[in-house]
Amino acid sequence: MYINFDVWKHFCIFAVTLRETIFFNQLYQGHEVRYPKAGDFIADRKHLFEIVRTVVLTKEMCRIICIFLSIFLYYPYKQKKENMKRVFIDMDNVLVDFQSGLDQVSEEVKAEYAGRLDEIPGLFAKMKPMEGAIEAVHELQKHYDLFILSTAPWKNPSAWSDKVEWVTKYLDDVFHKRLIILHHKDLCQGDYLIDDRGKNGTSEFAGEWIEFGSEQFPNWESVLRYLLPEG
Ligand SMILES: [Mg+2]
Repeated sequence: MYINFDVWKHFCIFAVTLRETIFFNQLYQGHEVRYPKAGDFIADRKHLFEIVRTVVLTKEMCRIICIFLSIFLYYPYKQKKENMKRVFIDMDNVLVDFQSGLDQVSEEVKAEYAGRLDEIPGLFAKMKPMEGAIEAVHELQKHYDLFILSTAPWKNPSAWSDKVEWVTKYLDDVFHKRLIILHHKDLCQGDYLIDDRGKNGTSEFAGEWIEFGSEQFPNWESVLRYLLPEG
């Protein structure tokens, strides 16, 4: 590759940016170029050029800010998350009060979907949180790596989007992009699964199954007593 000697000399002596070097190389063709004490170049002893570096500085500042955030904020956060135990939380009758959704449906619709009430379109977005659920996950969030692990009726496509809507409405800051919907919960690896039923792989979960609604864990208060460090 041929390198113009004057460009190379200019690059070495002044250690300027690539942008200035390219400009110099263009200007040098047909003009006398000198280096003033102030500014970047003087062409033909009368035209002073200053190469504006606003964009370069902006990029440099962005890089510095990103590095700063990575070192002082992101990596400690990431490391803390990696050291946390992982907890999966079921939705229906654990985070979400299933009956509260049904209470908002007309008798006509209930009759139409008799025997398959979980197929009522839009039902899952109507449901209210279980008592103490919102406060509990905010508390657990400080100590555990949390995910929602739920199933949705196969024949009710709106249930899948309803669940995203519900999580976004009530708990987006805790579970943003942390919603897993599948029918084989045992495929997920973690330390605890809080679930009210042993179906869909829950009873085969490799970690500990906290059976919500059982004698040992009748409500969120009892779950928090078990999972949160004392004091
Ligand atoms: Mg459930």
